[in-house]
Amino acid sequence: MGWPDQKLDILITGGTLLTMAAPADIIEEPVIGIRDGKILFVESNDLPSGYSPEAHEVIDASGCLVLPGLVNTHTHLPMILFRGLADDLPLMIWLNDHIFPAEERFINRDTVYTASLLAIAEMILSGTTTFCDGYFFESSVARAAIASGIRGVVSQGFIDFPSANKPDLSGHTAAAENFMQKWHKRSPLLTPALICHSSYICSPDTLRAIKAVARGHESLFLIHLAETREEVALLRERYGKKPVHHLLDLDLLDKATVAAHCIWLEEDELDLLAQSGVKVAHNPESNMKLGAGVARVPEMLRLGIEVGLGTDGCASNNNLDLFGEMGMCAKLHKVFSSDPTVMKAEKVVEMATLGGARVLGMADRIGSISPGKCADIILVNMNKPHLTPLYHPFSHLVYAASGADVLTSIIGGQVVMRNRRLLTIDLNEVMDGVRKIGAAISSWNRSSTA
Ligand SMILES: [Zn+2]
Repeated sequence: MGWPDQKLDILITGGTLLTMAAPADIIEEPVIGIRDGKILFVESNDLPSGYSPEAHEVIDASGCLVLPGLVNTHTHLPMILFRGLADDLPLMIWLNDHIFPAEERFINRDTVYTASLLAIAEMILSGTTTFCDGYFFESSVARAAIASGIRGVVSQGFIDFPSANKPDLSGHTAAAENFMQKWHKRSPLLTPALICHSSYICSPDTLRAIKAVARGHESLFLIHLAETREEVALLRERYGKKPVHHLLDLDLLDKATVAAHCIWLEEDELDLLAQSGVKVAHNPESNMKLGAGVARVPEMLRLGIEVGLGTDGCASNNNLDLFGEMGMCAKLHKVFSSDPTVMKAEKVVEMATLGGARVLGMADRIGSISPGKCADIILVNMNKPHLTPLYHPFSHLVYAASGADVLTSIIGGQVVMRNRRLLTIDLNEVMDGVRKIGAAISSWNRSSTA
């Protein structure tokens, strides 16, 4: 065993490690070795025999919690452009009168790229190391992800507006195929996928066609499902079916389908999701802000449905901080069920890490700090007034910490943030770029509502 062979890329020592590999697996003073983007070993106190303490970078995690990077299972990164543009409105008015017209005018490959860089910066600064995005011009999101070194599922979006009598099926299929082929194995950090907005904005033919392309590539298929009561009423009127039955009849339910929201579902529909292995992305802040309703997450978990956390787009949240999402998730279900024992802190942290990885079909690679897995690791600084004293790490992560407490972030073995400084993104330049687009949106918004 030669010396150079044993040199590590990164050695993390000290602090308190939450591996998330098994419940309550907490290691004090851990020693974590990273090489070639992977976690080589996880030990307590000492290096394994044969390893030298030499590493290209040694990170002292004293005073920090060390845990897997957070997984955002549902977002629309470019919507950061519409953060705070139209608040306090019902979903259908918000979408039809504000978001869709703004998207039509301002969304293009350049604005999506700039917006995605800012969104990625915000995610890294708040502890997210993997995101699952769905939008238009998704190749620009993919490019921004590669440029910034974050791990992501990038999903090209498809819609047929209600006015379109005939969906452009061959166009949809060709666009979906092109996207999948273009990004297949382009980067180890990137996974291409496809998203149909919903079954009220996509025709049955479009849903079937896009799912068929996703199946052909063994990739994820994403959809918004039962987000509002209006959606359920609309589907009943149009197809005479409940939302999950509509998807079942179109053969869309399987282990590679990730459904966001899943609020207005009945018992038999939840059973169908459980039986078919459909995964759920839960977005408590977006659901609360849009007054959409409360997804029955404790019940889903009892049925064995995999549930991850998502922020949804910035226009309905209005940030990408998964720490806020964890806190809201824990508290929303307590108040909804009048039961403070549901959604315990440890379970919620699991949903934001390994649970999210399971939702995205990536649990063999990410979601826990275990030998052989990708080195996606964050350090959360506990040396803060609002985190003192520290009795239970999971409690602090969910009820007291915020994204701003994340100190350092490693993705695939690359340090992307050190001591809160972003290393792959020029934040000032990106914020300037987004402010310029924001100024144009603002003057358009004033003139169109005048
Ligand atoms: Zn969404």
